Amino acid sequence: MDTALSFDPAAVRIPSGHFIDGELVMGAGETIAVARPSDASGIADLPIADAATVDRAVENAAEAQRASGWGTMAPRERARLMRRFADHIEANGVELGRLEALSSTRPITDAMAYDVPSTAEAFRFFAEYCDKLGGEVAATRHEHLGLVVSEPYGVVAAITPWNFPLSMVSWKAGAAMAAGNAVVVKPSEMTPFSTVRLAELAVEAGLPAGLFNVVQGDGRTTGDALCRHPRIGKISFTGSTATGAAIMAASAASGVKPLTLELGGKSPQLVFADIPDIDRTAGHVAGSILYNAGQVCVAGSRLIVEAGVHDALLANLVKRFEAVRPGVTWNAATGFAPIVSRRQMERIDDIVQRTLKAGATALTGGRPMAGQGDGAFYEPTILIGVTPDMPAAHEEIFGPVLTVQSFHGEAEGIALADHPDYGLCAGVHTADLGRAMRAMRAVQAGTVWINRYGRTADFVIPTGGFKRSGIGKDLGREAVIANLRHKSVLIEF
Ligand code: ADP
Repeated sequence: MDTALSFDPAAVRIPSGHFIDGELVMGAGETIAVARPSDASGIADLPIADAATVDRAVENAAEAQRASGWGTMAPRERARLMRRFADHIEANGVELGRLEALSSTRPITDAMAYDVPSTAEAFRFFAEYCDKLGGEVAATRHEHLGLVVSEPYGVVAAITPWNFPLSMVSWKAGAAMAAGNAVVVKPSEMTPFSTVRLAELAVEAGLPAGLFNVVQGDGRTTGDALCRHPRIGKISFTGSTATGAAIMAASAASGVKPLTLELGGKSPQLVFADIPDIDRTAGHVAGSILYNAGQVCVAGSRLIVEAGVHDALLANLVKRFEAVRPGVTWNAATGFAPIVSRRQMERIDDIVQRTLKAGATALTGGRPMAGQGDGAFYEPTILIGVTPDMPAAHEEIFGPVLTVQSFHGEAEGIALADHPDYGLCAGVHTADLGRAMRAMRAVQAGTVWINRYGRTADFVIPTGGFKRSGIGKDLGREAVIANLRHKSVLIEF
């Protein structure tokens, strides 16, 4: 732990406004009061972009993309500018990390270890694709030449959630920009500020003004207007399944725009009794549900554990769950995040209480955490005696709540791992390679981690869900391709 990372939240500049054409734009009219998750104290009032402000941001982005030649310049030049942007993010990393920590659930130690460096690195990663995806020569008859030429859409809309504000926007803006598009981002109204600072850094680094615009506001007004704008060529969204469905409907009603949707999850951690190192597996299971207090779409929230290792694994997990270090996000000693809002904490608690009422038992935790002032913190919770129909095993919680189901034999374990609706990720822990591969083949999930859980900094592995967990992929080559449209050309000679 680097205690030097602690900071005074009062000393952090808050860029509260829209960001259009390289300028911070203060809104008029209605606002949203934004509070710090750590202690519920107010940060700033956020303007709500109406349809006219959204229109201004999108038209400006379209003009910036055209006039700057972002989509037509030498791809290596685009890559160079994106790398310069990444360098500039790192050069301003402390300031950016403090802003992220102050205004979201990310403890400063995590923000500096993960959010800031991975945001910079995502832009670098996508920059490398600028001159590597050149389309295709098709296998046509000899007297023809068939080409598949890729082109940017123009302006891509990115709508991001509150759990990892910086890194989510870097995935979406990075892929869109590498493909030659401008972006208009609408961050979550609960964590809106670091995205504006990121957009400022883009301009300071020499990217064309207007290429990365930000509109602030809620989903119903601002998000919806952005999705319906006729100049938006593609929408990229991460958030809940219900909102993803609303965005699909808005897209359908306004010109059938293509979508990338990363939605909810209820991902299993399937642990077999043959694991060679219980402590190591427990580390992956606990980390997957305690990191960011479980406010992670890929959280491994359902432990499916073979009976032979059940007791030993749970004893290890309870120790880990009881050792968390909650606190305010600007204290470097904090290791356990607050919940983003009191409302979200009440949602978590409602699911836990309904599950307890249905017959489950809390092995540890099971209620809001006392002694943390006005911040919303939830006790790390392990629920045992859970059946698949109970609310906590079925509904996405987005909190530090692990349900436990026990099984006998491979077939039963694999059957329990699948969720009827969600299919974002799965963890499989076993020493038997054949069993790991059978489970990998059987499980319906967009990502399967074997003998580990969670993404690494290998951005090359795409991420996205099956079933109601989403459509399309973020990260990887697939994310850049999704931000390009393909024109078929047939030449006869
Ligand atoms: P949560 O309520 O947990 O933040 P959401 O999926 O509702 O999850 O929100 C994710 C993002 O989607 C936020 O930026 C939010 O403002 C935005 N959003 C919510 N509703 C809509 C909508 N109807 N159209 C577009 N964006 C929306």
